[in-house]
Amino acid sequence: MKIRYFDNAATTPVREEVVKEMLPFFGVEYGNASVMYSLGRNAKKAMKRARERVARAINADINEIYFTSCGSESDNLAIKGFAYENKSKGNHIITSKIEHHAVLDSCKTLEKQGFKVTYLNVDDKGKINLEELVNSITNQTILMTIMFANNEIGTIEPIEEIAKIAKKKNIVFHTDAVQAIGNVKIDVKQMNIDMLSLSGHKFYAPKGVGALYVKNGINFKKLQDGGEQEYNKRAGTENVAEIVGLGKAIELIYNDYDEYNKKLITLRNHYIDRVKNEISNCKVNGDLINRLPGNANVSFKNVNGSELLFELDKYGICASAGSACSTSNPAPSHVLTAIGLDKNYIGGTLRVSFGRDNTMEDVDFLVNRLKEFVNKK
Ligand SMILES: *Cc1c(COP(=O)(O)O)cnc(C)c1O
Repeated sequence: MKIRYFDNAATTPVREEVVKEMLPFFGVEYGNASVMYSLGRNAKKAMKRARERVARAINADINEIYFTSCGSESDNLAIKGFAYENKSKGNHIITSKIEHHAVLDSCKTLEKQGFKVTYLNVDDKGKINLEELVNSITNQTILMTIMFANNEIGTIEPIEEIAKIAKKKNIVFHTDAVQAIGNVKIDVKQMNIDMLSLSGHKFYAPKGVGALYVKNGINFKKLQDGGEQEYNKRAGTENVAEIVGLGKAIELIYNDYDEYNKKLITLRNHYIDRVKNEISNCKVNGDLINRLPGNANVSFKNVNGSELLFELDKYGICASAGSACSTSNPAPSHVLTAIGLDKNYIGGTLRVSFGRDNTMEDVDFLVNRLKEFVNKK
């Protein structure tokens, strides 16, 4: 059966060019990047190239990029690492109610250790309120962490405005940009972003490699002790092959940025138009304008989301209810709860996230199966 994959916000397939560039580092180039001899130097050179590629993609300096094992680790390192290092300056952190759990749970851990956290509300489209943000600042506030774009509903937050407020008040600003990389042009210097998390497997690199950008001059504590890898901020022998893959993937995605995103928008708009016109009692969640190009999140009234996914799976369709992280968790999504979605709709939510390999024919196939299922109810 043909697989039709609409879950690119959960993970993406690794691009062939990326695999090709990684392969030598699983084979002949097995050197440890920290050693003296040439085999190790090759690995070190390849890592430097990857670091340059990541830095170039977001306009950072090369020594501002730290490789990690995933987006979650980058979020933990940024938030907890910064808080531990800077707790003498203040103990207050501002975030939002719709963050990824890597951010929310890092904040919860800090709360247990004496930090105070404000969780900002969002409006019905998932956008934070800048006035509420300003009003929540105290003389103890050291860090704001607001996601660039939401992984469930695709809403893009007003990052430049938030960063401006943070800068004016001398507060450090971190953003989880895991979903935004490749879909939004990011310039950390021009946008005044102090720290930024990203993850390879959301833009066609393998799972298990991420990066954290930290602006020069901002101090944070190492969370994982051991060797002095990654400018002595993250111990552990480097995952050279995957770091090479991440570097290649981020370069490729920004190489054909316009074409790629135009394609995603065309597929997404076609999907949303057909669903809205042909299926009754549905709601499109999130902001229709400030939105990730590949995200469509629609709730169907009185539909059971798990049953729907099960049915679609019979036809080789991969999509998601809410977000991938909550499939084993029956509680309603914290994001859909935060936007105030009606309870008759919340359980029947389908997140479709388009990617490089999708075609218009795939979209029509998906809508047709969806129509059959929802109209049968
Ligand atoms: C996927 C995701 C993460 C986690 O990244 P991993 O590499 O899977 O740990 C964090 N934040 C957002 C917004 C994500 O979409």
